[in-house]
Amino acid sequence: MDFSLNEEQRVWQLKARKFAQEEIAPISLKRHCISDPRETFDWDIIGRGSKLGFRTLAVPKEWGGHGADLVTQAAVIAELAKADSAIAKTFSQCWKWSRLIALVCTSDQKERFLKPFLADDTYLLGYAATEPNASSDNRMPPENDPRAGWKLRAERHGDEWILNGGKCYIANGNVGKLFFVSTRTNPDVNIREGTTLFIVPRDTPGLRVGKVFNKSGWRFYQNAELIFDDARVPNANIIGEVNGGFRARGGDASQFGDFELAANALGICDAAVEMAVAHARTHRQDGKRLVDYQTVQLKLSEMHVITEALRAFVMRTAWERERASRGEKDASFVNAQFVMIFSKDVVQRVTHLNMEIYAAAGDMMDLAVDKLVRDASVWTHLAGSTILRIMSVKALTA
Ligand SMILES: Cc1cc2nc3c(=O)[nH]c(=O)nc-3n(C[C@H](O)[C@H](O)[C@H](O)COP(=O)(O)OP(=O)(O)OC[C@H]3O[C@@H](n4cnc5c(N)ncnc54)[C@H](O)[C@@H]3O)c2cc1C
Repeated sequence: MDFSLNEEQRVWQLKARKFAQEEIAPISLKRHCISDPRETFDWDIIGRGSKLGFRTLAVPKEWGGHGADLVTQAAVIAELAKADSAIAKTFSQCWKWSRLIALVCTSDQKERFLKPFLADDTYLLGYAATEPNASSDNRMPPENDPRAGWKLRAERHGDEWILNGGKCYIANGNVGKLFFVSTRTNPDVNIREGTTLFIVPRDTPGLRVGKVFNKSGWRFYQNAELIFDDARVPNANIIGEVNGGFRARGGDASQFGDFELAANALGICDAAVEMAVAHARTHRQDGKRLVDYQTVQLKLSEMHVITEALRAFVMRTAWERERASRGEKDASFVNAQFVMIFSKDVVQRVTHLNMEIYAAAGDMMDLAVDKLVRDASVWTHLAGSTILRIMSVKALTA
């Protein structure tokens, strides 16, 4: 196994580093500290990143994207996230869904959705699964219980489907132009059998944005309610087949959703390590630099060790999932859920150790120490919760 980057991968990594350091880093903390969650977002940075290719990175070249492989994607996410984890996620959220359109959608859907996505710097994507009373059970529904999972109802009327219900915490909810929406088309069976996945443009009649959530971490990233009130979606917007929503994404072996979060966590860890080392080298107590105290050295050492372990795990996962995506089969390819679980523990530990080294100064919001802790807290609720641990054990013992 060789983890060195090839020339093309290195070019993307350096391009991401330059953009992150010169354009994202100067606005990151200022955006994070804005109190109104609708105002933290900045179209300017998204537009400039988009022009450099960071919104369309994952679309295959034959469709006009950059066709970056997963190793490149991991390297780019980590660089962007080092400057701001939430801005990095806004871009990579688009990779996940644009890649899916390219992989599994019909030519007509690609024409209608992939082309406008590629042409418009403000075209962001999102996925709507979670509902106020359906969340962890969407990922791990009990085998034979129709009560578990999303309830948003889709009913067919001629060539259209009428959608009714609500989704919450939806990323890019108030800024996205296109959403992938998991609906219930047969409420009498388990969601694995009774789900249909639709592509729903933001301007669909009957779809509106509700509340924008005021989060502690990832404040730039917009999470909103989507409300469907007799929303009319054409039959031609179904991905895969009716009641085949759980299988619609089967053509993608990348496990991108778990892997991208681990790569993003790596960027936060790199930022925290850099901050901690800089502070320990310059801040003095009892006439000595912090770095001269053994207790501080132990903290710095732990931060380094687990960050480097995460880097190795992320890059191995990227390399193996890339090969799996290309159709190679190997029983030893790692399940990306494992690296996601590991990243949650690492990012929260590393950001807390950084906070300990900064002590009171770390608690002040004019430094990014507190921001990194808050951003890392998001991992608790994403996919790194108890549910992912249970799912990965099930995968191991299946
Ligand atoms: C920043 C952010 C971005 C998000 N973006 C999106 C998005 O774009 N689209 C989207 O659809 N959703 C999104 N979500 C929602 C996210 O997917 C949910 O938060 C997640 O599924 C967990 O659901 P929950 O928070 O409602 O917790 P719950 O499911 O209510 O769980 C509460 C607690 O119970 C435990 N629990 C639940 N069921 C079981 C079980 N069977 N066995 C053992 N323990 C259990 C959980 O582990 C947890 O500790 C986002 C959330 C956040 C924080």
